[in-house]
Amino acid sequence: MTRPELRLSSRVLHANIDAVRARIDPSTLMLVLKDDAYGHGLSWAVESALEAGVEWFGSYDIRSALAVRRVAGGDARIFAWVTSTDLEIDDALLQKIDLGVGTIDYLRRIIARAEALGTSARVHLKIDTGLHRNGILPDDWSAAVAEARRAERAGLLALEGVWSHIAEASDADDDDAQESFLEAVRIVGESGPIPAALHLTASAASWWRPELRGTLSRIGAFCYGIRSAEGPELDGIVPAAALVTTVIDVGEGGVTIGIGSFDGLPSTLAGALVGTPGGARTLTSIGHTDSHVEGWPGARLGDEVVLFGAGECGETSATTLAERIDTVGEEILTRLTPRVRRVVVD
Ligand SMILES: *Cc1c(COP(=O)(O)O)cnc(C)c1O
Repeated sequence: MTRPELRLSSRVLHANIDAVRARIDPSTLMLVLKDDAYGHGLSWAVESALEAGVEWFGSYDIRSALAVRRVAGGDARIFAWVTSTDLEIDDALLQKIDLGVGTIDYLRRIIARAEALGTSARVHLKIDTGLHRNGILPDDWSAAVAEARRAERAGLLALEGVWSHIAEASDADDDDAQESFLEAVRIVGESGPIPAALHLTASAASWWRPELRGTLSRIGAFCYGIRSAEGPELDGIVPAAALVTTVIDVGEGGVTIGIGSFDGLPSTLAGALVGTPGGARTLTSIGHTDSHVEGWPGARLGDEVVLFGAGECGETSATTLAERIDTVGEEILTRLTPRVRRVVVD
């Protein structure tokens, strides 16, 4: 092994997905795939999830939604929620991507493109429930719903869902957000059938706040085995990836390992514990393409050193590492560069 590896376990991803689905039942899982499936690799995540029977995928942008479509085929439901250009909308309509819509302008552009292409758009309207991160304001909601219903009657749109995003930082704020969300759903119901897909919660609220779950739950982190920073361990959830490198030099004071900041390892991680054949050892310094670790008796070239991973000694998860430097596990994973080879191990 000449470069560090992110070892991916389809078996673990599948087991995590099963644990999440059991926990959120009867809400349906939408596996969130943004940032190249949180650094794990989009194709691998989609293929493994399909084997686990996942039917809904959430990808931030349309470009990656199209990549999901290529891997998942025609039946998968794929939800893309970032406001996009008209060219991207055309691709999305042709590939039957479900579109998250958080502004009236975007709604109008989608309707116009559906008319131009002679097709119907699958739309999930987003209500702003207080996060102010893209979403139709409550004051504009009735007008937006009326426009969507008009387009629906004209055969240009199918209102498939109502959704929002919550902070998951305080229960009280999330409760308020749910109240606004349910009010928005009620208003939608006054003008026609309530859409099948109602979704509000991501990993943490889906797991811990059953009363907030809708018919769909958009979940990324917990499926990959990334627990919340400063949050508890989760029953049945373990990291789906392990970051492993090898000893490339053995010196007097310690060993050199083949991973550094060019691989995406934050240089501020110095001081963290890593797993070695001699047990947990301190990562003493981080260079560009190599780093130093305290030695152990009998250390040899080629020995494997585990930065994080399920069941290994040393630090056990990306989140544990992240907590050392006041960030979240997602950041450790999504920073890993293409120098880190993604290898499927089981
Ligand atoms: C990232 C994201 C999610 C998933 O969040 P996790 O905490 O990783 O489960 C869900 N919804 C939206 C809108 C997101 O941006």
